[in-house]
Amino acid sequence: MHPHLVFWISAALRIAIVLGAAATCGYFFGTLTGLVLALLGMLTLIVVQLQYLLNLSDWLDNPNSARLPDGWGAWTEIFSRLYKLRRGDEKNQTELAEWLARFRQAMTLLPDGVVIMDDVMFLEWCNPIAERDLGLDLKRDKGMRVTNLVRAPEFIDYIILGRYDTPLVLSVRDRKLIVHVIPFENRRQILVTHDITESERIDMMRRDFIANASHELRTPLTVINGFLEIASMQPDLEVSIRSSHVKLMVEQGERMQRLVEDMLTLSRLESTEFQVRSERIDMEMMLRHILQEAQALSAGKHQISLEFDGPDISGSSDEIRSAISNLVTNAVRYTPEHGAIKMIWKNSPQGPKLIVQDNGIGINQEHISRLTERFYRVDKSRSRETQGTGLGLAIVKHVLIRHDAQLLIESHLGEGSKFSVQFPRNAVATIE
Ligand code: ADP
Repeated sequence: MHPHLVFWISAALRIAIVLGAAATCGYFFGTLTGLVLALLGMLTLIVVQLQYLLNLSDWLDNPNSARLPDGWGAWTEIFSRLYKLRRGDEKNQTELAEWLARFRQAMTLLPDGVVIMDDVMFLEWCNPIAERDLGLDLKRDKGMRVTNLVRAPEFIDYIILGRYDTPLVLSVRDRKLIVHVIPFENRRQILVTHDITESERIDMMRRDFIANASHELRTPLTVINGFLEIASMQPDLEVSIRSSHVKLMVEQGERMQRLVEDMLTLSRLESTEFQVRSERIDMEMMLRHILQEAQALSAGKHQISLEFDGPDISGSSDEIRSAISNLVTNAVRYTPEHGAIKMIWKNSPQGPKLIVQDNGIGINQEHISRLTERFYRVDKSRSRETQGTGLGLAIVKHVLIRHDAQLLIESHLGEGSKFSVQFPRNAVATIE
């Protein structure tokens, strides 16, 4: 049956009952009584309806706390419909809140900065990466014009010109960002920032490395080519001169070979796929072997000693040998004749420790933090004279990183240097 019909029938019934009861009373107790009762009955019906209206108004004022009243007659229908509407509303709101929370969380996890602005660049919302990259603070800056918050002139120009088909490369707060602005929903714009500081730095390092390596290789190649040219143009060159040329060419060839070997070692150490092959290292045997090599290199010009009082460790034997050997070879190369070089292997509360100390030429403070950079040398000619590639300490650094060890360099110009390698406690070998 149609709800309206039900409504009218039940209302008519209620009125009919009241009027019927009043008419019956009028019949028995007189017309006046009947009229008064009819009036009272109708008044009661009106008061009940008014009471329901009041209840409804209370509920509409505060739908959350007030309970929806139970209905009577047509009110039952109205209240149950309102209740359903309210339930549907609550469900929609919860779903919306959940979506919003999920969206915010996703935006927070994004590695890129996201800023939502209206059509005139007023900040509506941004994620934490955008706060960090652009120096924004959502709580403080919401509702402010983004061009007043990010004051870089190139950013302001970019926004004023509005040519958003090409991204902007923006340098702010020591960072390099790629900025995209994408209009959406007619009256809103989304700004996305992508941080390229690290990839730029790596690119720069790669470019520097290639430039340095080419430069290092070019010098010996030029020397060799020069001698080869002389040999081809002057075939009857005196034997003694020719053999001295050959000797110099061999030296330069060896230099190139050392360079290429060190570069290959470095690239192997840097490759993440190439994991440390851990084995027990017999430290005493290794250090005695390195001591002998150092004595051979020194050819009796230095006093080289070894104090051995530490445990065996676990790690890659080849890598650790190459790192220690680099430190000891450097000590010999940068210590004048009659100098002393000490190798100490001991255990400490922080873990096993190696010290390579010399009383050689020493290093000025300003250079110390840069010594482990590739091709960084304090004195280029001395490094080359002593067969240095400029990659030794970079190799040491990488080996130590791979073994969770740390390098500490202490040095004073003219007094000597101390290179300490601190291994972690868990580097001590446990397997036989
Ligand atoms: P190189 O092949 O030039 O020796 P390294 O990477 O081994 O390259 O060392 C970098 C620079 O650190 C050297 O050029 C030198 O200037 C300085 N250096 C390294 N070890 C010592 C040392 N024991 N005493 C003085 N200077 C050192």
